Amino acid sequence: MIYKRSSALFAQAEQVIPGGVNSPVRAFKAVGGTPIFVKEAKGAYLYDEDGNQLIDYINSWGPMILGHAFEPVVSAVIEKAKKGTSFGMPTEIETKIAELAVSMVPNIDKIRFVNSGTEACMSAVRLARGFTGKDKIIKFAGCYHGHSDSFLIQAGSGAVTFGTPNSPGVTEGTAKDTLLARYNDLSNVAELIEANSNEIACIIIEPVAGNMGCIPPKEGFLQGLRNLCNENGILLIFDEVMTGFRLTKGGAQELYGIDADIVCFGKVIGGGLPVGAFAAREEIMNCLAPLGPVYQAGTLSGNPLAMAAGLAMLTTLNDDADVFVRLAKKTEYLHKGLSEVLRKNDVVHTINRVGSMISVHFDEAEVVDFETAAKGNNETFKTFFHDMLKQGVYIAPSAFETWFVADALTYEDLDKTIEVCDSVFSK
Ligand SMILES: *Cc1c(COP(=O)(O)O)cnc(C)c1O
Repeated sequence: MIYKRSSALFAQAEQVIPGGVNSPVRAFKAVGGTPIFVKEAKGAYLYDEDGNQLIDYINSWGPMILGHAFEPVVSAVIEKAKKGTSFGMPTEIETKIAELAVSMVPNIDKIRFVNSGTEACMSAVRLARGFTGKDKIIKFAGCYHGHSDSFLIQAGSGAVTFGTPNSPGVTEGTAKDTLLARYNDLSNVAELIEANSNEIACIIIEPVAGNMGCIPPKEGFLQGLRNLCNENGILLIFDEVMTGFRLTKGGAQELYGIDADIVCFGKVIGGGLPVGAFAAREEIMNCLAPLGPVYQAGTLSGNPLAMAAGLAMLTTLNDDADVFVRLAKKTEYLHKGLSEVLRKNDVVHTINRVGSMISVHFDEAEVVDFETAAKGNNETFKTFFHDMLKQGVYIAPSAFETWFVADALTYEDLDKTIEVCDSVFSK
């Protein structure tokens, strides 16, 4: 494959955009080489500026769960755009998507829309602090909750990839209120709570971690967190920016049968437009301005185009009883196929998978937390990434990222992916 035009466009971008990208993981730093510029996409495929067709396993890092340029979303956006693109005043469609989201997700009464997952998590933590009157939060090493200051402490994917787990610009004052725990380690969390008794507002977690590769919660881990929160007056925040409207209609809360106190959304909820949201039961949500004292706002929040895209996406997912089962089956098929060819070619590996999230770690030990995720062979991953790409399969450009399976992928696409993986390692 040729990347002549992509390389030229990247060189041009670097002159005016730091690193040539508007979000660091796009820059290919973890795998080397220069990023591919996308011209357009449809269904399961990306078409780059050099005319190559790629099977896409990133899907805009999650949102395009049904594939690119999904017709109901595209036409909803076009129709809305003709009627004005932003008013800074309430519109009916905001209530419609809110009603639908509240009906799909367990345990929430009210939801507020923002513009990104970062904003959703940042606002959820402020709300938890306002509600409990406490300052400290517990987050898990390797979990990513967006790039706001409190979270840039061992933050998974982008931050880990670039070796700046603690970004300059985050003050010590902010960092001291964020306590770090090991994923899947309940006793570690219990110790932190004991050492900071009555100071912790919330525990925030990716209920299935997706930003250090895919890591499922161990049996009893989420329930254990729920119990610790109940016993200590701490709010449990599920960051479902990745898992929400992906694992099931109701996300990880539904999949594992655990109630969170506050839930954060992003990615799928916007159908590919910039949308985030946070939701909780009424008692908590009523603390937000204008009803309560916790301030949170946004000029473009609830933007009509974004809401139209999100509503079309959620409506489709809500009406299709089989979509999440279908996605999980496709992902399981991919898992089995990849395992088989990797084993056949004597490649040391572990594959983690939950629903339509899957990641390949090049290490044989079980991957259960940030430490075990970091042990994977990054050199093997780099070669794997570039060799897959050369044959038309685009996986995440970092070993710390989950792949996202979209419903637009056919079994033929999956077979091709498995064949390419075989050819990469059999040569
Ligand atoms: C992507 C992601 C975020 C941040 O969302 P942005 O829209 O990129 O700001 C937060 N939490 C999780 C779990 C994510 O995967």
